[in-house]
Amino acid sequence: MAEKRPTPPDVDRVAASRAAVAARRARAAVKSEIAQGKRSALEVLAAANESPDGIEGRLRVTEFLVSIPAIGVTKMHRIMEKLEISLSKRLGGLGKHQLARLGDFLTLRTTSRRGESAARLVVLAGPTAVGKGTVAAHIRQYYPDVHLSVSATTRAPRPGETEGVSYYFVDDAEFDRMVSAGELLEWATVHNAYRYGTPRGPVDDALRRGHSVLLEIDIQGARAVRRAMPEARLVFLLPPTWDELVRRLIGRDTESAAEQTRRLETAKLELAAQGEFDFRVVNHDVAEAAREVVDLLNLRKAPSLP
Ligand code: 5GP
Repeated sequence: MAEKRPTPPDVDRVAASRAAVAARRARAAVKSEIAQGKRSALEVLAAANESPDGIEGRLRVTEFLVSIPAIGVTKMHRIMEKLEISLSKRLGGLGKHQLARLGDFLTLRTTSRRGESAARLVVLAGPTAVGKGTVAAHIRQYYPDVHLSVSATTRAPRPGETEGVSYYFVDDAEFDRMVSAGELLEWATVHNAYRYGTPRGPVDDALRRGHSVLLEIDIQGARAVRRAMPEARLVFLLPPTWDELVRRLIGRDTESAAEQTRRLETAKLELAAQGEFDFRVVNHDVAEAAREVVDLLNLRKAPSLP
């Protein structure tokens, strides 16, 4: 015989229904912020991804879509079908691929409605000494339309590096402050030594203005960006060969022998992660690799949708 569930005491029921009403109101507020353009749909999606049980995460995808100006019920149904998302899904309950498809759809929609080519967030990662920095510097010089993110780091400047261009060089206390204030899109301790992080504000601003953004960061950072911004394209820069990678690292001569050994160990682990990336670019030639990366910044990979 089925067990009878105990009825909760009246006070609990009242509290629960009050909480439900408050949550519904908060979700309605999010929808009207999207409808009025006070918050972008992409921001709401990122918030849902970060906290699936939060207000944004509990929002139904159907309601989320119809709150976007110019998407009515009929269009919403077409979008849900194309994105292969069932009608009962909430933003926080989407699978990885569904999130990526929805993110792609929203990014493309935002930029193409402004008549611009689609702005992209591209992450360039790869093993140590593969030449990410050189490729990024080439892009900075020859492709001024690309917004190159400037990271914060706790390591000291090397000769020739400039504050605010190469990095924002900060001390541990300032880095701690940035982390706790939520100012970093991602951060990681690299080579078990110093901390590096991507300031969130400039990335968001550039994307909102329709500019493509390039992040040159390590692999842990790339994984964190994928979690925070599923629409990002992850590019893995490969050396032509392992021997070439060793030669480049030793040839650079900026690190001590112990540091070089540590970086080579990290590089082996990093190479093993290449399968997690959307694209692989081999760095035979800096200008050629840079061009391939820049091409990916405007790549229209998402399916065409209404
Ligand atoms: P370096 O000290 O040689 O400039 O950089 C060391 C490593 O830190 C490189 O692999 C570089 O890609 C990575 N890095 C630079 N900025 C960031 C960042 O903002 N976040 C993360 N996760 N890694 C970064």
